Amino acid sequence: MLFKQPNLYSPICLLLMNLFKYLCVLLVKYSMQQEKKFNNNIKLIAFDADDTLWENELHYRRAEERFGKLMEKYCSADEANRILLRVEKDNLPLLGYGSKPFIISLIECGIEISGGTLSNEDILELISIGKDTIGQEMMLYPQTENVLEKLSAKYQLSLATKGDLKEQESKIARSGLKKYFSHIEIMSEKNSENYLKIVRLHNLEPEQFLMVGNSFKSDILPVLEIGANAIYIPSEIIWAHEVAEESDHPRLTKAANLIDLLNLIEI
Ligand SMILES: [Mg+2]
Repeated sequence: MLFKQPNLYSPICLLLMNLFKYLCVLLVKYSMQQEKKFNNNIKLIAFDADDTLWENELHYRRAEERFGKLMEKYCSADEANRILLRVEKDNLPLLGYGSKPFIISLIECGIEISGGTLSNEDILELISIGKDTIGQEMMLYPQTENVLEKLSAKYQLSLATKGDLKEQESKIARSGLKKYFSHIEIMSEKNSENYLKIVRLHNLEPEQFLMVGNSFKSDILPVLEIGANAIYIPSEIIWAHEVAEESDHPRLTKAANLIDLLNLIEI
C-alpha cells in the first residue's frame, strides 16, 4: 500500500499548524505565569528606600574612613570605628537614625577616644564628616524607575522607610520617584506594629501585603511576623546594626536585584 505524502500547504494542514503554534504560545505564557510567585492576591507592595532603591550606606562607609583617619593619632582606625559603632548603638533609642545622631556620635566618640583632648578644629572636622553624609547626589540602582513604573501600573505602591523625617523627605524628592508611590511612610522604627498600621490603613489583610527591602532585620523579620510577604534583596554594604541572622520562610523570597522583581511578581 502506498503512503500518500500530506500536502503541507493544504488549508486543513495550515489551520492545524497555526492551531498548534497558538497552543504552544498559550502553554509558554501559562507556564511563565505559573512561575510568578506573587500575583493578584497582593494588593499593596511597599519598598524600603535606602540601599533598596538607591545607595545610602556608602556615604556612611566613606564617613567612617575619614573618621578612622582623623582618630589615628589616638588609636587604630578599626578600633576607632568599633567604638563609634558602640556609641551609635547606645544613642539609637534616644536619638534614632540619620546624620544628626551620627554627628553627635562622632563628636561623643572623638572626645572619648582622645581622652577629652579633642581640638576645636577636630570637632569641626567631625561635624563636616557627618554633614557630608547628607545631600549627596542620589544614586538610583539600575532599572529602579523601570521596575517601579511597571509595578505601579498594576499595584498600589508604598514607600516604607525609617529615619529622620527631613532627610528622608529630601532624598525622596531628589530621587524623582515620588510619583510611583500612592503612600509614603517615614517611620522612627521598622517594627511589626508600624507595618501592621500600613496594612490596616489600606484596609488589607497581612497576606495581601508585600514588602521589598535590603535589611533582614528591619524589612523582613517584622513583616513575616505579622503574616505578610517579603522579598529580600541583600545590599552589598549594610550597617552592622542592621545585620540579622537570615532564615528561610514560606512567605519569604530572596532576589538578586530590583529587576528580579519582574520575574517574581505578575505584571
Ligand atoms: Mg534599607
